[in-house]
Amino acid sequence: PTDARASIGLTGLAVMGSNLARNIARNGYTIAVHNRTTSKMTDMVEAYADEAREAGGELVGRESLEDFVAAIERPRTVVVMVKAGSPTDAVIDELAPLLEEGDIVVDAGNAHVDDTMRRQAALKEQGLHFVGMGVSGGEEGALNGPSIMVGGSEHAYENLGPIVEKIAAQVDGTPCATHVGPDGAGHFVKMVHNGIEYADMQLIAESYDLLRALTDRTPAQLAEAFSDWNGGDLESFLIEMTADVLAHTDQATGTAFVDVVEDAAEQKGTGRWTVQTALDLGVPVTGIAEATFARSLSGHTDQRAAARERFGSAVHDVEVDVEQFTDDVRSALFASKVVAYAQGFDQILAASAENDWDVDPGTIATIWRGGCIIRAQFLDRIREAYEAEPGLKSLLLAPYFADAVEAGAAAWRRVVATAATAGVPVPAFSSSLSYFDALRRDRLPAALIQGLRDDFGAHTYRRVDKEGSFHTLWAGDR
Ligand code: NAP
Repeated sequence: PTDARASIGLTGLAVMGSNLARNIARNGYTIAVHNRTTSKMTDMVEAYADEAREAGGELVGRESLEDFVAAIERPRTVVVMVKAGSPTDAVIDELAPLLEEGDIVVDAGNAHVDDTMRRQAALKEQGLHFVGMGVSGGEEGALNGPSIMVGGSEHAYENLGPIVEKIAAQVDGTPCATHVGPDGAGHFVKMVHNGIEYADMQLIAESYDLLRALTDRTPAQLAEAFSDWNGGDLESFLIEMTADVLAHTDQATGTAFVDVVEDAAEQKGTGRWTVQTALDLGVPVTGIAEATFARSLSGHTDQRAAARERFGSAVHDVEVDVEQFTDDVRSALFASKVVAYAQGFDQILAASAENDWDVDPGTIATIWRGGCIIRAQFLDRIREAYEAEPGLKSLLLAPYFADAVEAGAAAWRRVVATAATAGVPVPAFSSSLSYFDALRRDRLPAALIQGLRDDFGAHTYRRVDKEGSFHTLWAGDR
């Protein structure tokens, strides 16, 4: 092949893929582009060829997969950005026979870590490198600078690294992209990122619900509260967006946008995967789990209607001081958010230990500071915490977070108690508070559970005063 001039190739030119390809070209690279439906490729090349050329890059459009592969310099780096699941397998299967030893296939879509490991093993047999690469930041991020979590081999990163570090968001001169670890580490970290995003959004939603129900303010007025919070230690993309969404008025009806949206939250699967893998790893990610279940519950509209009919939907009147309560909710949100992040980082570290990935938590916090959906000032504090103490037992114990949680604990309790009294559901707030309390409790009732297990199933228990396993002869044994 004589026209192999592209530094990289990308197939799958839906919104994410075409924006990522434009981003690469706008950074001065020549990139080969391909899409199953050819018209999408030709339209895209026509629309953005000039933009690419002005930046010293080029979009090389190819109709067939063979010509697309032939346009890429060896060792080839081929990014696949198609629908997650079986479409990704189909494209990889078509692509692999066209590639040569040492070439690199990059799955930039979301994937379950087990699928990534399976694909990596299959391609390895063909002498190919497979990289699971997490890309966060939605379509805007893909175009202007996402956060990129790269897994796979060192060889792959040598080729891919310089490009992804250049196209990623930059914070204080540091790219929000790195080789987080081998194998499926990139996709795993991206999955937990999304899980944390679920928890973060649920906590924000609970804050909104409480303030709306108990302080009698309109969504537009609450937008101002969130804007205020965005000026402090809660400063983040999601809080900023919350203010935007709450301030938005539906054009057609003139009512608050949030009131015309159906209250059933959807999900594509990364939250569920986070919880499933956490269960396997034995890591309590209660905030993420409650957030995922809260979305499921919201979708059970028939059940909800039946319960409303039987029990009524009234919220009990609870007198609150608006200013004090708003500030309490802010403290509860911050403390619960610390718990959600602490749990997510625990999960990443547990998977890293189990798989020998050697993931550095401080580096993860560093690349989440910009580009991604959970980007926040907060991430800088997490980076500092892990840099100061690499073996930190829990993020909750880092001095900055420990002080903040301690200072906010009374407010956190008031909020959860008020919510329970009023009948406003706060699954993420209350489970995060319970997690905090369980962690610091002197004795847990787990001792009783061990006793029960030993009684009905002779499962044995350990004692506080002697080494070894013990079994008591219970009535049934005698
Ligand atoms: P998408 O709707 O998930 O996928 C559409 C693309 O997949 C199109 O290019 C389509 O080609 C191609 N495709 C589907 N089935 C195919 C098959 N059997 N063979 C070949 N090509 C096939 O697009 P997206 O929203 O841009 O997302 C792409 C990936 O990025 C997904 O894995 C998603 O999980 C991940 N992601 C998305 C976001 C986001 O904000 N949307 C953020 C992060 C990650 P045709 O044009 O021919 O139909």
